[in-house]
Amino acid sequence: PFTAFRIHDDEPRNRIETIETGDLRAGDTLVKVTYSGLNYKDALAVTNTGKIIRDFPMVPGIDYAGTVIESEHFAPGTEVLLTGWGVGERHDGGLAGVASAKAKWLLPLPAGLSARHAMALGTAGLTAMLAVMAIEDGGVTPASGPIAVTGAGGGVGGIAIKVLAGLGYDVHAVSGRPEQAERLKALGASTVVDRSELARDAKPLEAGIWAGAVDAVGGQMLSTILATCQPGAVVTAMGNAGGIGLKTTVFPFILRGVRLQGIDSVFAPLDKRAAAWARLATAVPEASLEGSIEEIGLEGVEDACQRLVAGQVAGRILVRLAP
Ligand code: NAP
Repeated sequence: PFTAFRIHDDEPRNRIETIETGDLRAGDTLVKVTYSGLNYKDALAVTNTGKIIRDFPMVPGIDYAGTVIESEHFAPGTEVLLTGWGVGERHDGGLAGVASAKAKWLLPLPAGLSARHAMALGTAGLTAMLAVMAIEDGGVTPASGPIAVTGAGGGVGGIAIKVLAGLGYDVHAVSGRPEQAERLKALGASTVVDRSELARDAKPLEAGIWAGAVDAVGGQMLSTILATCQPGAVVTAMGNAGGIGLKTTVFPFILRGVRLQGIDSVFAPLDKRAAAWARLATAVPEASLEGSIEEIGLEGVEDACQRLVAGQVAGRILVRLAP
């Protein structure tokens, strides 16, 4: 028996309860979970704000790291991490003492990455690194010009700032929270731009500022960024915290050759994930995240998720499952 946070389809929806491995949707590998990390998607599920959970009861938690207990594919004791693959949505997730996973979803922890460090990064970190890799693939270099990071106060934004600044890019953090400015500069942003400057109706094309962007917000923010890109810019889009709509014209694409690159971390192939995690292990040391980490237990999950959907969380929330 172990403790789990489960979402039910009747009241009370969220329960911390004692369950057994037989209560979990069966995978082929049992993992003792050490840490899980909360993402915006978990917050939507726990607060019942978005239709994330398809089948009840469900253990949420789209990210976890821990130690293999039983598997045909991994030796017991192997340290592994999991992000995405519909875990915490269609399959039981990481907010429990034990998880049952499919071995093909698990990555052995790369050298230099502890379970806590991996979860301090989590899906947010993987997504940020996939975005940076897409910007590099598009030929944008530190000499090309500034990179905008929107939703900068959030999980994806903060890690994107750290990685980009470490590579020598000039990072402009876009945030709606001026009180986050010092933390964002400590992560490596040269400038903090107020969200209101970009959350507006832009003309189809305006003066080109950005050589690239990591956009976690969508909506009006992404529309304005596309209209204010330099020729050859690569704009990566992965989020919808500011809306799912996108109003744009063909001009940024046909007159400036701008590339809009979607980022999907959930079903990203394993080889790409392995490359991203290996880079994250050194590009974002655990110590550099300490000022952006809040550590809680299962009893703190509901409150943390409410703050996440309200946009009040700075950085990443870690959930500790085992000492
Ligand atoms: P998060 O920690 O909650 O951060 C989101 C940030 O967006 C907030 O900190 C806030 O930043 C900004 N924001 C919130 N509400 C806003 C609004 N109404 N208008 C404008 N900005 C707003 O979430 P996250 O984990 O970083 O994820 C960010 C987004 O990426 C989410 O939409 C998430 O679902 C998505 N995501 C997608 C993938 C993928 O694979 N495609 C993976 C991970 C995350 P400021 O306060 O600094 O402005």
